Order: sequence, then structure tokens, then C-alpha cells
Amino acid sequence: MFNFNDKIAVAVSGGKDSLSLLHILAKMERQRPKASLVAVTVDEGIKGYRDEALKLATENCEELKIPQYVVSFKELYGITLDEVIAQSRLKPKWELTSCAYCGVLRRRALNVAARAVGADKIATGHTLDDEVQTALMNIFRGDISRLVKEKPVTEKVHQRLVQKVKPFCEIPEKESALYAYVKKISFQDTPCPYASEALRNDIRSMLNQMENRHAGTKFTVAKAMERIRPALGGIGKREGFRECGECGEPASAEFCKVCEMLRYLT
Ligand SMILES: [Zn+2]
Repeated sequence: MFNFNDKIAVAVSGGKDSLSLLHILAKMERQRPKASLVAVTVDEGIKGYRDEALKLATENCEELKIPQYVVSFKELYGITLDEVIAQSRLKPKWELTSCAYCGVLRRRALNVAARAVGADKIATGHTLDDEVQTALMNIFRGDISRLVKEKPVTEKVHQRLVQKVKPFCEIPEKESALYAYVKKISFQDTPCPYASEALRNDIRSMLNQMENRHAGTKFTVAKAMERIRPALGGIGKREGFRECGECGEPASAEFCKVCEMLRYLT
């Protein structure tokens, strides 16, 4: 996932997974003088929730002496996630979950931030549980091109899209949480007020139940996905990237998803 001289942007939300990752990468980075770390935090603008997480993220960065770069939806898009959700509820045409709106805007924000700090890679705290849930969600939705694309190390498809890696992709969420507790890392443990993905919740409970009854299920699914992806070959292969007619960011159509979404909402 990494080279010895990488500048790594760690996506730090203030939750247990991203903070455990930050602490572990900081420990490893100290032994690799050519590599460097910078924490990147996205402030989506969620009143009464993000403020606490932001504070915890900053405290951890200060403790580890890692620079932190904060980018907010408000400064980037002129609209907070609270406002996005309020707007979307007035418009019934696009039936997207809050997580789907947030996901598109967050992905862009992270990429813009990683570019601003000159990072070679973006490391996120996605665990084995997240990876397996996402893979099964893509199967349950029949979205095979996303199944191929959403993997622990993304392809370098465009020079303005920073490559993403998930160092915890084989670490169960329980172990990431345990690490945070054992190391006495202070993290935010209240869930996001908008967390609303019904399908993910169902798949999470199913997987946890399967894991309890058949130990090793999550690893087995992850390993199966690792072998299935290359066998699916060119499905969903992104070709012909162009610049968005509005913002100039890489887009697969005339306008990017972010601009499409913002135009619809505002
Ligand atoms: Zn655009």
C-alpha cells in the first residue's frame, strides 16, 4: 500500500477506526524518515455532532505532533450537510440516502484536501467489517462495477485523483475498537445522526450473526472478493475521464456528480 517516501494523508474523522489508524501509522512512520503523515479532516457541517469529533481529531493530532488540515463542506460547496439534507427532503425526486449525498461530497472533499497538502496516498480507517459490508451491498444491489472499483487499494485512474488505501481492510472492527480502548485513545462513539443506510444495517447484523455462528465468515468473504475482482476483468473499468464543465474536476460525464447534486439541491 505504501512506498518508503510517501506523503500520506490520513482521513481522520474522530471515530475509533480513523484514530487507531492514525496512532498506528504515526508509530510506523517514526521509523521511516522519508515518509510523512498529515491528517485530513472533513467538516461536513453536522450541528452538535461534528464539532465534538473535530475537537477529538485535533487533540489526537496535537498529541502525535501530526499536522492537521481541515476542509469543510461550507467553504468548498457553500452548503453544510445539514442544509443538504434539509434541501433533499423537500425534493422527493432523487431518492438518495443521507449517506449517499454525504459520500459523494466527502469523497471530493478528501481528494481536494489530499491534493492541497501534496499527498501521494489517502489512507482511510475502513475495517474488514466495512469492506465486507460494502462488497455485499454492491452484490445485493447488483452493482458489479462498484464491486470491482471499491477495493482496498484503488487504481490510479487520473492524475488529479489521489490513490486511496485501506490499511485496516483485514482488521475486524472489534480489534480496531479494542486498540483504541487499550491505548486510551479518546474518540467519538456516538453514531452520526444521519446514519440511515437500511441495507447496510441489515447486512451488518447478518454478517455479525454469521460470524458468531461460523467464525471466520468475514475473512472468507473478503478473501473471496479478492479473487473474484480480477476475474471480473474489465467490468466497470473507467475510461475517457474528462473535466467537469462546471468545476473542472475529473468527471465521467459532462458534469461531475458533485455539481449535478449541488445544482439539483440549490
Ligand atoms: Zn463539477
